[in-house]
Amino acid sequence: MSLRFLSTVRAKAPQLADIVIIGGGPAGLTLAAAIKNSPTLSSLNCKLVEGGNLIGPLTKFKQEPPSNFTNRVVSLTPSTVSYLSEIGAWNHIQEERVESYDNIVAWDGVSGAKIDFDGPSLATMCENLNLQSALLSRIEELGQDLEILDNTKVESIQADEKIGWPVLQLSNGESIQTRLLVGCDGFNSPARKFAQIESRGWMYNRWGIVATMKFKDGEFRHPTGWQRFLPTGPVALLPLPDNWTTLVWSTTPENSDILMKLDEDKFLAMVNAAVKLPVEELEYLIKVAASKPEIVAEEVAWRLQLFNDKLSPEEAGGYPLELETIVTKSRGKFPLKLSHADTYVEERVALVGDAAHTTHPLAGQGLNMGQADVKSLVGVLETSLERGLDIGTKMALEPYFSERYPANHVLLGVVDKLHKIYSTDAAPLVFARSFGVNVLNNVPFVKDFMVARMGE
Ligand SMILES: Cc1cc2nc3c(=O)[nH]c(=O)nc-3n(C[C@H](O)[C@H](O)[C@H](O)COP(=O)(O)OP(=O)(O)OC[C@H]3O[C@@H](n4cnc5c(N)ncnc54)[C@H](O)[C@@H]3O)c2cc1C
Repeated sequence: MSLRFLSTVRAKAPQLADIVIIGGGPAGLTLAAAIKNSPTLSSLNCKLVEGGNLIGPLTKFKQEPPSNFTNRVVSLTPSTVSYLSEIGAWNHIQEERVESYDNIVAWDGVSGAKIDFDGPSLATMCENLNLQSALLSRIEELGQDLEILDNTKVESIQADEKIGWPVLQLSNGESIQTRLLVGCDGFNSPARKFAQIESRGWMYNRWGIVATMKFKDGEFRHPTGWQRFLPTGPVALLPLPDNWTTLVWSTTPENSDILMKLDEDKFLAMVNAAVKLPVEELEYLIKVAASKPEIVAEEVAWRLQLFNDKLSPEEAGGYPLELETIVTKSRGKFPLKLSHADTYVEERVALVGDAAHTTHPLAGQGLNMGQADVKSLVGVLETSLERGLDIGTKMALEPYFSERYPANHVLLGVVDKLHKIYSTDAAPLVFARSFGVNVLNNVPFVKDFMVARMGE
């Protein structure tokens, strides 16, 4: 009986698709929306498979937005916002929940050397859920036939014995055979493993702690991105509307354990300390947080009082305002890593977003790189189809790899070097980097060049 049942399951023919996207993260949803928005590609039979619960939470986010900001927030470059507008998704963003900013202050935690970037709309802070929900709304608005299977895991992928197309076995018992499989399936990408593409890199031995916080009520600063480079990793406060801010504090595994265990009010005190107090005092406070957490808030308060008393009003303007509120349970932590796939394309497979590359968040580029991947891949698929090529062949996909790999490679390298240069308090290196920053800060055309590159 059970043998007959097995043979029935095996005999069930897989569904056929032109494109299957694995992953309903920012990259997967953008790709789905862009394909359905493209007059050339929209008639292709496209499916998106996501292991997690996607449609319910995204629809809820749109219909009953939470009163507080959620804790996964990304900094979008002008190019990303412009692409999201081009494909019609930005219209669906809840604009009252995003903040554009035109000023970034970054400084060396050891030497204090500061650099101030400003330019028209350097970046836009947007919650991941806001972005994903806007993309889903756009897909629904386009009304093109696109099947989204959420709560459905891709359990295995095999090549069809006769024609070699990938066949995906899903957790709902169905299977799909596809002309092109696009892995938007994150760092552990099953699509990448199926294609036997090597990915190289390393863990940074750092965790990124995120949280949603608010600056002191009654005081207001022009929306500014603050980032202080500590030897253990940068701490950044990036602006959200109405004096709210999102934290990304990259630090060692040991420090992250201590900070995550603190009560929320004590954690808030530690963030206030991290953006102002000298590195040695901060190291001491981390020890206090580990051994006597009950007194850490008072320790921070009097040290900050001493620090603030010495600042002139002008100097005080060079630091973020004091943080007063933290959203309950908004703390989360993520391991930080660098990875880069050897190629983004194989026969019948393309990789996009974190499936192809992951980077340290200090420059806020990970998701933006994925958006640029989507734009490039969609262009390549359009050209292939217009020329009558089979979109799943490696030959047709190659231009996507040659366009995106070098650009991503450079960015991954720059961010990695920044992490390494700043992860030390060795005197010669501190002098060299501070000298460089001071020169940069005072040579307007070099700064203008960097600001222009940040927007790309
Ligand atoms: C602390 C932190 C701060 C960051 N800040 C920024 C920033 O300011 N700006 C920026 O540009 N980037 C930032 N990033 C990076 C950014 O968050 C990621 O690059 C981005 O979310 C990756 O999107 P993705 O869609 O490629 O992958 P993911 O978001 O990882 O999505 C992959 C999806 O694939 C699904 N999946 C995986 N396997 C399967 C399977 N077998 N079956 C079905 N589904 C599957 C997963 O469930 C998931 O939904 C930050 C990252 C961190 C950690």
